[in-house]
Amino acid sequence: MTSISDGKVVSISYTLKNDAGKVLDSSSADDPLLYLQGCENLVPGLEKELEGHAVGDKVAAVVSPADGYGERVDAPLEEIPRASFPDDAPLAPGLGFGVEDEDGNELVLFVNKVEGGTVFVDVNHPLAGETLHFDVEVLAVRDATEDERAHGHPHGPTGHEGHSH
Ligand code: ZN
Repeated sequence: MTSISDGKVVSISYTLKNDAGKVLDSSSADDPLLYLQGCENLVPGLEKELEGHAVGDKVAAVVSPADGYGERVDAPLEEIPRASFPDDAPLAPGLGFGVEDEDGNELVLFVNKVEGGTVFVDVNHPLAGETLHFDVEVLAVRDATEDERAHGHPHGPTGHEGHSH
């Protein structure tokens, strides 16, 4: 049986809870998550736990912040004028977007809240500092196509909806 390793497209259903047992995110078998193992589609700690598993396996993975969305950095929210974003940007709390700092380094910032004409952004991912508790069921495993490998993510009707390149 095919097991999960780098270069496999994997379909999973999952529930993600925090330490307090609150459900943060989930995906059912009717609407599974597809990802490409080894391409950082998932947080590193979850990829590590899923490595070697096969269809039908149920995996309970506890992922530390360092292997998840990072430790929380104590930094004030930054204020960016709403007008600096495209009109149609979906500026909901939690949205991540890439920016370049003064030295040309790429970093990701996350929308914390939008108040009037000001967008408050956070260097922390909304789940930074959280220990992540995943309950995963492996639904399908297949080899990635050449295109998928080149792009670093799955394609196809149940993978990358609306994807066009
Ligand atoms: Zn693609």
